[in-house]
Amino acid sequence: MSVTPINASIITIGDELLIGQTIDTNSAFIAQELNKIGVWVRRRVAVGDVYEDIWKALDEEGAVSEIVLITGGLGPTADDITKPLLCAYFNGTLVVNEEVKAHVKNLFENVYRRPGALLERNLKQAEVPDVCTVLHNARGTAPGMWFSKQQEKHKTFYISLPGVPHEMKGLITNQVIPRLKDEFSMPAIIHKTAFTAGQGESMLAEMLVDFEASLPESVKLAYLPNYGMVKLRLTGRGNTKEEVDAVITPVFDRLLKEVKDFLVTDTDEGLEIVIGKLLKEKGLTLGTAESCTGGYIAQLITSVPGSSAYYKGSVVSYANEVKTGVLGVLPETLQADGAVSEETVTQMVQGAIRTLGVDYAIATSGIMGPDGGSPEKPVGTVWIAVGNNKETRSIKLNLRFDRQRNISLAAVNALNFLRKFILTNS
Ligand code: ATP
Ligand code: MG
Repeated sequence: MSVTPINASIITIGDELLIGQTIDTNSAFIAQELNKIGVWVRRRVAVGDVYEDIWKALDEEGAVSEIVLITGGLGPTADDITKPLLCAYFNGTLVVNEEVKAHVKNLFENVYRRPGALLERNLKQAEVPDVCTVLHNARGTAPGMWFSKQQEKHKTFYISLPGVPHEMKGLITNQVIPRLKDEFSMPAIIHKTAFTAGQGESMLAEMLVDFEASLPESVKLAYLPNYGMVKLRLTGRGNTKEEVDAVITPVFDRLLKEVKDFLVTDTDEGLEIVIGKLLKEKGLTLGTAESCTGGYIAQLITSVPGSSAYYKGSVVSYANEVKTGVLGVLPETLQADGAVSEETVTQMVQGAIRTLGVDYAIATSGIMGPDGGSPEKPVGTVWIAVGNNKETRSIKLNLRFDRQRNISLAAVNALNFLRKFILTNS
């Protein structure tokens, strides 16, 4: 069954976006939220604080979309032209909205506690076109505004929101999404995600040629690669959840079988979460001894709430003195094999298990670039070891990216290596 998608456009306004001073994170958030309720984001446009450009964008996006979301250009300073423009575009007049005025006053007097700082300019934020529905902005002074306009073939809702990401998010979640759900009958959407590691996107695509060709029309497969991992996401659409579920579930089971050798998890969760669950289940603890990753693995692990239940800590053993002094790596080993070697990372793992008093440890040592390589050990050479008090396993990576990407890839590979080790040794 085919379901006609509802189209949306996102217009972001601000010179700062065009010169790259502010990175447009608003569009990504809005697109994700719209996608969740089954709205198809058809176009994203960024324009400067230029009257004609904004006007033209409203015309062009309204012509193709039933929903046009606009962010930015609503701040209190004089350079902002969006509000008068919207007023003219929808043939309205600016009028003071008493509720917004009371809200702005209350924010200054009771929340910011700077009543003296309330300026005429802030009060101007209470002026809104009389042709819109005001969307209450609990997190700031500039309200959201909801307009509608009959186009040649369809009606379009134009929704203007402030650019401040925190305020925009509150408005999207609390005001915009619920209203859109009331206005449109949305298709039912179900996503199912398989998280894989250890195989690149193109190799997976090769493996899945037949699978993809056999997909029912209402189910789509997306490859979402991210630092050594690839998420395979199936999206099913239909009229009801039950209907979509009946179609997508057997398809997802087939996908899991196809990629079983590389599968990390069949839920939409990162490696650090998967590892956390494994350790918690087994009641075992983890520590890290990081040289080339400089604590990045620790950062990933501790980004998971509740990680204190299984993660004890890290020795960021960047210098050789720390490898020997704290972790007990033998100076002879460093002399003979070097810091970036299988023998060194093996001793680092054993040292971390002793020093941190943990069941499992991960160790990394490598040359991340751009300098420091040699013919025997070029930039991108990384040794990783994982182990417990019975066994240590190691692997060597040959990475070929810039420093930051090399660090991320080393960390993800180390976590995946640990995951496999835990599954076979506990
Ligand atoms: P004024 O210039 O009148 O003070 P403003 O232009 O800063 O107001 P907005 O355009 O609503 O007001 O934007 C507020 C802030 O939100 C911007 O300074 C910018 O840092 C941030 N911002 C705006 N648009 C985006 C966006 N698309 N993604 C991320 N941040 C944004
Ligand atoms: Mg602006």
